[in-house]
Amino acid sequence: MRLNFQKVVSIFEVIFKNNNKTLQFALYLNLIIFSFLCNPILIQTHMKRIAVFGSTGSIGTQALDVIKANPQLFSVAVLTAHSNDDLLIQQAIDCRPAIVVIGDEAKYEKVKSALQALDIHVYTGEDALVQVAAMDVYDVLLAGIVGYAGLRSTLAAVEQGKTIALANKETLVVAGDLVTKTAAFTGAKLIPVDSEHSAIFQCLIGENIASIEKIILTASGGPFRGKKPNFLINVRKDHALQHPNWTMGAKISIDSASLMNKGLEMIEAKWLFGLKNEQIEVIVHPQSIIHSMVQFVDGSVKAQMGLPDMKLPIQYALAFPNRITNIFPRLDFRYNETLTFEAADERTFRNLAIATAAMHKGGNAPCIMNAANEIVVDAFLKNKMTFLGMSDVIEKCIEQMPFIANPTLQNYITNDKEARELATELLKEFSL
Ligand code: NAD
Ligand code: MG
Repeated sequence: MRLNFQKVVSIFEVIFKNNNKTLQFALYLNLIIFSFLCNPILIQTHMKRIAVFGSTGSIGTQALDVIKANPQLFSVAVLTAHSNDDLLIQQAIDCRPAIVVIGDEAKYEKVKSALQALDIHVYTGEDALVQVAAMDVYDVLLAGIVGYAGLRSTLAAVEQGKTIALANKETLVVAGDLVTKTAAFTGAKLIPVDSEHSAIFQCLIGENIASIEKIILTASGGPFRGKKPNFLINVRKDHALQHPNWTMGAKISIDSASLMNKGLEMIEAKWLFGLKNEQIEVIVHPQSIIHSMVQFVDGSVKAQMGLPDMKLPIQYALAFPNRITNIFPRLDFRYNETLTFEAADERTFRNLAIATAAMHKGGNAPCIMNAANEIVVDAFLKNKMTFLGMSDVIEKCIEQMPFIANPTLQNYITNDKEARELATELLKEFSL
C-alpha cells in the first residue's frame, strides 16, 4: 500500500515539474490507469457478463438473486435450463439475456415464441449448450447444471480459456484430469462454488500450494447422521430430502444423505487443488459453520466459516478476486457457540468408502461410479429402489466394468453410457 502511494506521489511530482504538455498528458493518463488498477472499488465496478448454465436450479436461481442484487457489477448474458420452460421464460423476461438455451427440444417453440419480441436468441439441444459455452458473449460461466449433463458445456468453456464459477462437481469427478490439463493449457480459471471448495480456495489465498499438508473437508452428516443400516433399510425419498442445514436440488440432497456427495467432493478437491489422495480428509461437522479447512506443513490450520448459505460462495466466485458487501445474515458466535466434530461412519454410509476407493483407483473408476450413482439416485427419487441398494449397485458397476487407466474423452462418454445401462439392469435386484 505504501509503495503504491509513493509511486502516485512521484508521478505527481514529475507532472508538476514538467513543462512538456504531451508528456504531462501521458503522465496523467498513466496516473488514471494506475489508480484504476490499484483501486478495488473501481475494479469492482467493471461489469461482468454472467452465463448462468442451469438457471432454473437451486444454484442457478440463487446465482440470479446475487446478480440482481448487484446490477452495477453483474449482468446476465446467457440463461439455460433443461425442461422448466415457464421459469426460464420468466427469468429471460426479467433479466434480458442475449441468449437462452432450452435443453428439451419439445419446449423450443414455446420458449422461442414467448421471447420473440425481446431480441433474445433462443437455441435448443445439448449441442447448443456446448456451442453457447464456447461463444464470446460472457465473462464468467456459472456451471450450475446438475450431473454428467454439465460436462460437455463446461469443457467447452475450459477449452476457450474462460473463467468458470464451478458448481457442477460431477464434471471434475468424471474427467478431472482432462479438464484440469486443458485448463492449464488454455488458461481457463476454475473458481469453486461448492461451499467446501470455496472455503479451501479462500484459505489458500496468499499461500503456496506446496505448503499444504492436507485439506479437511467438512460434512454435515446429512439427515441420517448417527443412523444404522437397520434404520436406513426403510427410508424413502421424503426422509432423504430433509437436509438439516441446506436447501438444495433433489440429486445433491440424496447424495448428501448417502454421503456420496462428500465422496464426489473429495475427487473434486483432488483435481481443483492438485492434491495427492492421501492429503484429503473428511470430518463430520454437523453445524455446517466451518465450511472446510487447510492444514499447512507447519501444523497451522486455516478454516473458513460462515452461515450455511450457498449465496455466499456463489457471490464470492462471481466477484472474485473482490469481495462485495451484502445484507445476508451474519454468523454470531453467541448463538453458534458449539462446533463439534466426529469421524464419518463409512461402514453405514458405504458410498463414502466406495468413492474413496474410486479416487485411489483413478482412471475411469470415478466416471463409472458417477454414472451408476446418477442412475440409482434417479431410481430412488422415483421410489423404485431402496436407499441401501444404491451402494450395492454402484460397487458392482465399478467391479464389473473394464478398468481404463488413462481414459480419453471418448472413453468417458462411452463408459458413462455403459455404466448407466449396467446400473439400470443391476438395480432391479433392489427394486421396491
Ligand atoms: P438442480 O437440480 O436444482 O438444478 C439443475 C439445473 O440443471 C436446472 O436448471 C436444470 O434445468 C439443469 N439440467 C438438469 N439436467 C440437465 C440436462 N440434461 N441438460 C441441461 N441442463 C440440465 O441442481 P442444483 O442443486 O442447483 O445443483 C447443480 C450443481 O451444483 C450440481 O452439480 C450440484 O452438485 C452442485 N452444487 C449444488 C449445491 C446446492 O446447494 N444446490 C451446492 C453445492 C454444489
Ligand atoms: Mg458441498
